[in-house]
Amino acid sequence: MKQNLLDFDAQQLTTWFAEQGEKPFRAKQVLRWIYKNGESNFDAMSDLAKSLREMLNQKACIQAPTVMREETASDGTHKWLLDVGTGNAVETVYIPEADRGTLCVSTQAGCALDCAFCSTGKQGFNRNLSTAEIIGQVWWANRQIGKNADGNWPISNVVMMGMGEPLLNFESTVSALNLMLDDNAYGLSRRRVTVSTSGVVPAMDRLRDACPVALAVSLHAPNDALRNELVPINQKYPLHELMAACQRYLVKAPRDFVTFEYVMLAGVNDSVQQARELIDLVRDVPCKFNLIPFNPFPQAPYLRSEMDVVKRFRDVLMQANIVTTIRKVRGDDIAAACGQLAGQVQDKTKRTGQRIVEIHREH
Ligand code: SAH
Ligand code: SF4
Repeated sequence: MKQNLLDFDAQQLTTWFAEQGEKPFRAKQVLRWIYKNGESNFDAMSDLAKSLREMLNQKACIQAPTVMREETASDGTHKWLLDVGTGNAVETVYIPEADRGTLCVSTQAGCALDCAFCSTGKQGFNRNLSTAEIIGQVWWANRQIGKNADGNWPISNVVMMGMGEPLLNFESTVSALNLMLDDNAYGLSRRRVTVSTSGVVPAMDRLRDACPVALAVSLHAPNDALRNELVPINQKYPLHELMAACQRYLVKAPRDFVTFEYVMLAGVNDSVQQARELIDLVRDVPCKFNLIPFNPFPQAPYLRSEMDVVKRFRDVLMQANIVTTIRKVRGDDIAAACGQLAGQVQDKTKRTGQRIVEIHREH
């Protein structure tokens, strides 16, 4: 089988080239062709020796996941449904804004962590995506949209907030992150690449040491009793451990705050009392909050909080000097939600509800 070069970060590609008897700078050249030029045809890599191109044609390929469907919303949000084999599909969503282009990528088909309010979690875990399948989402989307007038790729920000828990697919996630940051690949700033985690504490430390990027933590509750119910991994890594991990992360983080994501569930976690409890909880962690109005799905046992309740919650946090945003809805006319269409492909008859993609605004 041919080696998919999208599976390698710069270091891994250099090692592979060495194994083929090639010099390290050849790996750098090929990396630039793949990511800076979006090239997938070795014959077009005009500054490589013919013999090297022949070797690559024989032994390697550049293969992003196959796109099953593509949709564009009236606000310009694009969504791709990607085939990742054996009946599995994941979604990638591109959200254009005046000053940036954000791609929301998936890291796993399904998710094992089974958060009570998450439709991806309800699908269960299928498998980890490979590095090629993760970075391939960025590569494919950039090529599809095409370069800006200034010659730059349109994707300036990446958020790992699609399907799956990135920190439970650690190696592939880090290799993909390395490619997003590498100057011979996409060269994005660490501040513009965000990993979102439900709180896999040991892997947060590993990420800080391996590849510190901006961090979002899915908090969703102000105490262990409620968080154990909403985010079951809290039973393994309770809040005092999670808060300490956030503090340790910030020592090396490219930003000086953690973003706490907080899904607003009517009557469950949205009271003023709970907002006050949150303020106490995060007292020692420099942070911002992003409130996400819940996106209902069939069989979900929760309702979205009313907007005035969300705003009241925000105001309590803001009065304690915690910068708090309410996540903006994008692409709702095509249900551009991570996880939604993947579910529809697997079982077209059962799913009727819509989820909506919503993306951080502060990056
Ligand atoms: N597994 C990671 C990243 C993917 S989920 C994590 O949990 O952080 C991305 C974000 O969407 C998380 O904050 C998650 O809690 C939130 N989310 C999941 N289901 C949702 C729903 N039905 N409505 C609103 N937000 C949801
Ligand atoms: Fe997994 Fe994140 Fe969904 Fe929880 S919210 S089930 S961790 S994808």
